[in-house]
Amino acid sequence: ATHLVWLRNDLRITDNKALHAACCDPAARVLAVFIATPGQWRQHEMAPRQAAFIHANLLQVQQALADRGIPLVCHQCDDFSVAVDWLVAYCAQERVNALFYNRQYEINELKRDQQAQRRLSGQVICQSFDDSLLLPPGSVQTGGGEMYKIYTPFRKAFIQRLTESDVRSLPAPKRREGGALSVSAAPAAFDYPQVEAGADFPAGEDAALQRLRAFCREQVQDYLQQRDFPAIAGTSSLSPYLAIGVLSPRQCFNRLRAECPQVLENSDSGAFGWLNELIWREFYRHLMVAYPALCRHRPFIEWTDRVRWRNNDALLLAWQQGATGYPIVDAAMRQLNKTGWMHNRLRMISASFLVKDLLIDWRAGERYFMSQLLDGDLAANNGGWQWAASTGTDAAPYFRIFNPTTQGERFDPQGTFIRKWLPELADVPDNALHQPHLWAEKQQCTLDYPLPIVDHKQARLETLAAFEAAKRGE
Ligand code: FAD
Repeated sequence: ATHLVWLRNDLRITDNKALHAACCDPAARVLAVFIATPGQWRQHEMAPRQAAFIHANLLQVQQALADRGIPLVCHQCDDFSVAVDWLVAYCAQERVNALFYNRQYEINELKRDQQAQRRLSGQVICQSFDDSLLLPPGSVQTGGGEMYKIYTPFRKAFIQRLTESDVRSLPAPKRREGGALSVSAAPAAFDYPQVEAGADFPAGEDAALQRLRAFCREQVQDYLQQRDFPAIAGTSSLSPYLAIGVLSPRQCFNRLRAECPQVLENSDSGAFGWLNELIWREFYRHLMVAYPALCRHRPFIEWTDRVRWRNNDALLLAWQQGATGYPIVDAAMRQLNKTGWMHNRLRMISASFLVKDLLIDWRAGERYFMSQLLDGDLAANNGGWQWAASTGTDAAPYFRIFNPTTQGERFDPQGTFIRKWLPELADVPDNALHQPHLWAEKQQCTLDYPLPIVDHKQARLETLAAFEAAKRGE
């Protein structure tokens, strides 16, 4: 028998359900494919950094599979429909009996998989797996059989379910007798712009596992005290690996439990705090499956679609470039532009600023984040934006508006983070860093740094009025 593993968002060989299942029969010939679809990526404005990261990780997976006698063929075509044509032809050419893949839950991906199954039916047995989540979508529901719309009860039910489920990690496949041990043609450069991720995010599951181990051993205890301060490396920075499946959430949970066996019993601990973030990741994915309209960028709270956004390209550009005159926002955006990663507290602050201070449609911010993020993930990004914009399920209420100056003062009190990204403020003393122009005025000097592009107090009132009008149906 010939088994084909179709790799997509699961670029690892350890704890990969589809790969593991394909390798169970020791007599089977096992092949693997990856199909890059740059046309699809363009449509979703995937970040060039993420494209390069996928490519770098593919090289590693290809080598790791080759060492085990499994050739990985990397093919490139424009979009999903051509990808399915190619897959069907490849299955015929290689006389594939069974196809194995891990499910993706976005609308287009689901359609692609249905199409592939339909086209292959009768010739190839298709087996798919819930692999990218701790618990499958739809498995955590209210007593009435619905998806939770509020996070805290979801988490409670989730943890209950988790304790009853087998979430052990699976081993990497053993070396296969007779399988080719040489690497097939390396994946060609994608027909897509690519920017290297840089030294902060080395490719490969070994690098990801090492980071996971070190974080769970040395840092997770302090997670709750440190996680909100962008000047401290207090979070795991594992999101780029989780987003493209170089690491699985089961590996995260199992490593956490190995280091902190009481994690589920001690809800005040750093370990529980970190698990809580992994559960947010699950929540947004479960939501996206329950409410596919989220994939079409519809707001969860319908009346918020009536908010009259200000379509001001100059303001949007100033935000994108980190030139708003609010240091914490600008430092955050420059971190994003330069590295493809942004600290969670800063994602909340900068998203809130775009929506609540500039009154720009959250979808413009969601798109921009996606075009820059190394960890771009539709469900998490959409969830984060809808939370910040007060349009989502269990979102921040619309009348709670972050003050970007006090957020900066609270979460970067010494201005360490701001100084790193805004060298033009080097001469401003610490206690003046969050409102540098007030200081410059007193000193009668000029700064090579923009004046605030909006007045926060005034903007806040206008945003409240815009949301209230929308709520009244105006
Ligand atoms: P840790 O604090 O170490 O958390 C561990 C893991 O849990 C993360 O790697 C991530 O996979 C998951 N996680 C943590 N927080 C969240 C959250 N709020 N929602 C969903 N999952 C979470 N995360 C992405 O992975 N991709 C995105 O495109 C993305 N866009 C966002 C946009 C906005 C506006 C906001 C507010 C948040 C967004 N997040 C996104 C969530 C979060 O900011 C990042 O996951 C986190 O900053 C990654 O850093 P870390 O790996 O050090 O996280």
